[in-house]
Amino acid sequence: MATNLTMPQIKKSILIVGAGPGGYVTAIKAAQMGAKVSLIEADKVGGTCLNVGCIPTKALIHVSSTFSAIKEQSAKLGITVSGMDVDWAKAQQYKGSIVKTLVGGVEGLLKANGVAVYRGRGIVKDAHTIQVGSKTLTADCIILAVGSEPVRIPIPGADLPGVIDSTGTLALTEIPKSFVIIGGGVIGIEFASLFASLGTKCTIVEALPRILPPIDAEITRMVRADLEARGIAILTDARVESIEQAGASYTVHMNYQGQAQTVEGEKVLMCVGRRAMTQGIGLEEAGIVLNCGKVVTDDHFQTNVPGIYAIGDCNGKLMLAHAASAQGIAAVNHIMTGRDSYHAETVPSCIYLEPEVASVGRKEEELQEQGIAYRCGTFSLSGNGKALIEAGGKGMIKILADAKYGQILGVHIYGPRATDLIAAAAIAIRLEATVDEFTSTVWAHPTVGEALGEAAEAVFGNSIHWPPKKK
Ligand code: FAD
Ligand code: AMP
Repeated sequence: MATNLTMPQIKKSILIVGAGPGGYVTAIKAAQMGAKVSLIEADKVGGTCLNVGCIPTKALIHVSSTFSAIKEQSAKLGITVSGMDVDWAKAQQYKGSIVKTLVGGVEGLLKANGVAVYRGRGIVKDAHTIQVGSKTLTADCIILAVGSEPVRIPIPGADLPGVIDSTGTLALTEIPKSFVIIGGGVIGIEFASLFASLGTKCTIVEALPRILPPIDAEITRMVRADLEARGIAILTDARVESIEQAGASYTVHMNYQGQAQTVEGEKVLMCVGRRAMTQGIGLEEAGIVLNCGKVVTDDHFQTNVPGIYAIGDCNGKLMLAHAASAQGIAAVNHIMTGRDSYHAETVPSCIYLEPEVASVGRKEEELQEQGIAYRCGTFSLSGNGKALIEAGGKGMIKILADAKYGQILGVHIYGPRATDLIAAAAIAIRLEATVDEFTSTVWAHPTVGEALGEAAEAVFGNSIHWPPKKK
């Protein structure tokens, strides 16, 4: 029987609300699997990630880290540089050109895959219907991918003009001389690193006893020490209570370890978390259960209303672009085939610092709390040639493995190229690989990746390029 491979048979129709990395990837996947797909977007295709999140921050971080690498290393490398400066307007243009290229590319992909894009705010009417302006769209299933927006803590001064969020920071027309950053989460720390490299005096104010709570504690201590060595002031156990304008700058009042304290900045960045954009779009009226504004779903990302799914930032499970995309693909697989395809344990977390941080799988603290018997292998990147050449040997790799069989449970990296290297660790976890399989894999030399093999060696024995452990 002749089959038409290029025109898949339409099996289902799906309405997707929101065209961020959750919604647009889901739309393309669903279309490729033969669904009739309509994608509704209130603002720009690409969502937070492409327009005001991952991509523009990483473009500016590329500028700042290139600048600091030349500034810090040129003398040592024998490169003579004079009159070095950052033209912020050009840096912003560079950022804008990358965003434009990617957003245009996504629009092209949607078209090429036959996805119908509707512009406007989608309102849920029932389990099969979305209203967009005067249009009523219907389908077999709905996938909500409406994302999130920055929150502001309700304190006096939170609305002053120089108190900005991540979106405002990305749009700055000048590099501030000083910046108070409220919130020591991933976004706050990345911005502190970015602006510190450009010469801004940055102060991070974090309410909890440590910065970057989701990251391995040992790596967090190293990151903190390195950020402080770069001149970034970090105040932990410091809860911001109010902000006041003082001429051209702002005074941030806080309770710092039980004492009243203030810190001044030309700008104040408030990055204390994000909330799901689930208000006023008919979710409660349609009977969808929310928890603190986040859409509650099961393991297939289906809500309590059969046929309505919620993926990405709006379900609040893990606010990362690749998690949103993977959840969307899983929802589509569930709709089209009834099968599961999401492996939460393989979702990496990355922080774009100098050097980078990346981790996947279980944390040591978690294993301890859950009483899981594990072994830990670490390798300092001072013993790795490539890391020494590129970043002075700063950083480490930590591998956590099951004590009995050596199955890799978690990998934590602080070092150059960490955000790319973590892919090897994620696939190892997906394949339930053991440290034995890591040590019997041949790693190219000289690469930072070799250190993964060395850290694996350290789990049950000794690394080659490190003195033997004392008995
Ligand atoms: P979003 O990207 O927020 O997209 C939701 C879309 O839905 C938006 O376009 C919105 O306009 C639209 N929408 C909302 N309501 C409606 C409606 N009713 N009708 C129609 N459309 C609607 N993650 C990473 O993985 N790596 C990073 O390096 C990274 N860096 C970040 C840096 C910053 C500064 C920020 C703020 C975030 C960063 N993130 C990063 C997080 C990442 O951007 C989000 O996790 C990701 O964008 C979530 O994707 P999403 O599709 O769920 O939602
Ligand atoms: P994240 O949720 O990862 O974006 O990080 C936001 C950070 O902001 C968290 O680590 C919070 O502890 C921190 N935070 C929230 N409220 C305050 C506050 N009033 N003062 C200082 N830090 C805060």
